[in-house]
Amino acid sequence: MKVKFKKIGKKYEGREAFTLRNINLEIEDKDFCVILGPSGCGKTTLLRMIAGLNSITEGDLLFDDMRVNKVASKDRDIAMVFQSYALYPHMTVYENMAFSLSMRKERKKIIHDRVMEAAEVLQIKDYLYSKPSDISGGQRQRVALGRAMVRKPKVFLMDEPLSNLDAKLREHMRVELVRLHKSLETTTIYVTHDQTEAMTMATKIVLMNDGKIQQAGKPEEFYNRPHNIFVAKFIGSPTMNLIQGKMLQGRFVSDDGTIQLTPKEEDLAYLKPFDQKSVTMGVRPERFISCDKISDRFECVIDVVEMLGKEKILYAKTKSNQDIIISTPGHYVYGEGEAHTFGFDLDAIHFFDTGTEERIN
Ligand code: ATP
Repeated sequence: MKVKFKKIGKKYEGREAFTLRNINLEIEDKDFCVILGPSGCGKTTLLRMIAGLNSITEGDLLFDDMRVNKVASKDRDIAMVFQSYALYPHMTVYENMAFSLSMRKERKKIIHDRVMEAAEVLQIKDYLYSKPSDISGGQRQRVALGRAMVRKPKVFLMDEPLSNLDAKLREHMRVELVRLHKSLETTTIYVTHDQTEAMTMATKIVLMNDGKIQQAGKPEEFYNRPHNIFVAKFIGSPTMNLIQGKMLQGRFVSDDGTIQLTPKEEDLAYLKPFDQKSVTMGVRPERFISCDKISDRFECVIDVVEMLGKEKILYAKTKSNQDIIISTPGHYVYGEGEAHTFGFDLDAIHFFDTGTEERIN
């Protein structure tokens, strides 16, 4: 099912400001849409509107082109999975999964078939008759998913469903969720503040800040073409290097003069109106080049080397104390206190208007 937001705003009673403003968004059928953003930006508010648990102050919410602003939650054909799992402790796994169908007075045979089908897919058949307290966190999370699956909803809504799991299990469940989504093909809307979850699972990411959508699109677009400085900083780890400077006759010159480069032709065309003006140059840590043949190079001294196995992160400073973060393959040899020169991969330079913080190139 398709979910569409048209100029939606939300103001909570007793609050002066709108929590969400002018939200326009289309989530296509079968999308795995991840709503991403820092704490308090309005992600849960948005999800709860789709669930029918929050009223809508202004604008229209459409399910497959039908306005559902006033449709009760139980009539929306959605199923929600929470961070807390919200399982009934006194019921077995089987009863937890069967509960919503029993409440709907479905036939016993249908209930049994659906529970067994979900248990098979989620590989939880071995503990269908255990209580939630007797199974692990990861298993509980699967039961919570199973409980949503048996209803065969048109949309799954998930609010930080993996945040209570340890790092290894979270990684594992990310892949499981992607597999599950591929086999069920149910539109899924998933809230998280974890950029890795968004980048690895989403077919579409919606990044929010302060009640507004900052960018919506495919994960690779976020990485390759962040629309503004907020997006550039939010996606990517370690974060993108952002260097303040000016355009001077076709060259970028950092404010302290230590970093200079001539952008490639296509970028220069966009930068033309910015001659003599302040721009912010962005380069991801993995897009520096350590090759003596490049002309636009800068010198820096490495402060700290962080060895992560497959990569090494170098924390360095230029002569004028500009911080630079560089990521290199793990087997490259770099030592703390050493001076090195680096150049840039000109195909991977981002330029932003320092005033508006919007992307230029
Ligand atoms: P988190 O990641 O911390 O859960 P979030 O992005 O999901 O954050 P929301 O829970 O949607 O953010 O909250 C957005 C803003 O709306 C916050 O300032 C919050 O205090 C406010 N808010 C949420 N629920 C209510 C409510 N029922 N009444 C008044 N204000 C609320």
